[in-house]
Amino acid sequence: MHSTKKFYILLMVLCSICSLQASGVTVLATTDIHGHITGTDRGLLKLATLIVAEKEKAGPENTLLIDCGDTLEGTYSAYATQGEIMIKALNFLHYDAWIPGNHEFDLNLKTLAQRIRQFQGAVLAGNINCRTLQSAAITSSWKIFKRGGLKVAVIGLTMPGISWQRWRPPGVLQTLKMSYSLHRIMPEVRAKEPDIIILAQHLGIYAKGYNAYSLLADFPEINLVLGGHTHVEKSGQKIGPDNWYVQAGKHAECVAKIEITFDKKRQKAARITSSLLKVKESTSEYKKLRSLINEDLINANEHGRFLLSELKLSRSVGRHKVIEETAVAAMKWKCRVMGKKAGAVFYSNCRKGGVLKQIIPLTRKTIFDWYRFHDKVCLVDFGSRETFRAVLNEFKSSKSARFTPLILLNNSKNNFTVVLSSYLLAGAGGRLPLLHSYGIKHPEKVIQTSGIQETVSLYLQEKQLLPENQKRRN
Ligand SMILES: [Zn+2]
Repeated sequence: MHSTKKFYILLMVLCSICSLQASGVTVLATTDIHGHITGTDRGLLKLATLIVAEKEKAGPENTLLIDCGDTLEGTYSAYATQGEIMIKALNFLHYDAWIPGNHEFDLNLKTLAQRIRQFQGAVLAGNINCRTLQSAAITSSWKIFKRGGLKVAVIGLTMPGISWQRWRPPGVLQTLKMSYSLHRIMPEVRAKEPDIIILAQHLGIYAKGYNAYSLLADFPEINLVLGGHTHVEKSGQKIGPDNWYVQAGKHAECVAKIEITFDKKRQKAARITSSLLKVKESTSEYKKLRSLINEDLINANEHGRFLLSELKLSRSVGRHKVIEETAVAAMKWKCRVMGKKAGAVFYSNCRKGGVLKQIIPLTRKTIFDWYRFHDKVCLVDFGSRETFRAVLNEFKSSKSARFTPLILLNNSKNNFTVVLSSYLLAGAGGRLPLLHSYGIKHPEKVIQTSGIQETVSLYLQEKQLLPENQKRRN
């Protein structure tokens, strides 16, 4: 008995010596979930099982759970709930930080602000200038978390160049370069003397004008970079002498687990190890999460099954061709409905569809599958023939023109009004610089109307193509 007591005392002394010298934190990270909740080898319902188990293993007081963005859109259930179902799931799992991705900004900014308010962790977006979000003071650039007895600073940066993806009047939303933002943020972070610094970014190792290696050469004290956006899996690699990079793939297929050991004597991270834990077919769903969101999933499914119309195709074609032809048809409908409202003279580069053999039911979900990204329909007045011609030439030489028609509504002498998507007007992610600068310089010439999905759905409903008994109500 006596010797057992001695042994325990010795053990306690040893343990306290160990804890004086080294402690650690476990970081769990996801990215680009894109609304994936269900699935056989993916989805938050299954991933939750892995996340909860890892958190229990390491102890919640030693664990940080971070999502690097593109979370709220991508599936019909996310669309039908305008991302709310995703926030419910993140809150249920007690995510500590969430970095909004570029697709979060597909939602209108008021809705996004609402989602940000609903999120119970910290929303970190240090390189965004956005009136709606900043006046509400609901995002910050960085935050210190106390985990494993350490001060862990987490900085959040999203993809620069979001303004090239969706047209908005100038000054409404601007994203800044990563290095520019870090030069501003790092002095604030350093002043708090954190033990560990994590940069969570909605961006991969490389992007146009960006390279994580050179960024980390400027900020070598960042121990860990959590990446996103490019949908690749990086289980862990060195991107500098003391800098580690991890990226957790996409669609809630895996969670990255990073263990950081901190050497208290040398006051630095001594060791970082990481791996990706993958959802398997045999992984069970996390039941409590399922019961929390099951009703939302059922409602979203019902909502998506609402039958709008049918599409008859010219000939029997393969699946890919069907998608292509129906997309063209849907664009034409969109144009027709826009044109009808504006009294249009049509001009379009849409390829012609043919005559019919296949019949495709058109539900809300079908329309969603064609136009996933909440693109808005814009009317733009180009003023002169010359401006219009220049834009048209740029447009014709770009691949982006494929499914996104540009339609001339009125070709009277000095009035070249065109209907196009907000993605095109924003410059199609950098491919249409002329259009981008026109939209930025002349916001007064742009009228942004409803989303493409809504416009097409409305058109199909207005056409009343279906017999009464085939219509579904919800
Ligand atoms: Zn992205």
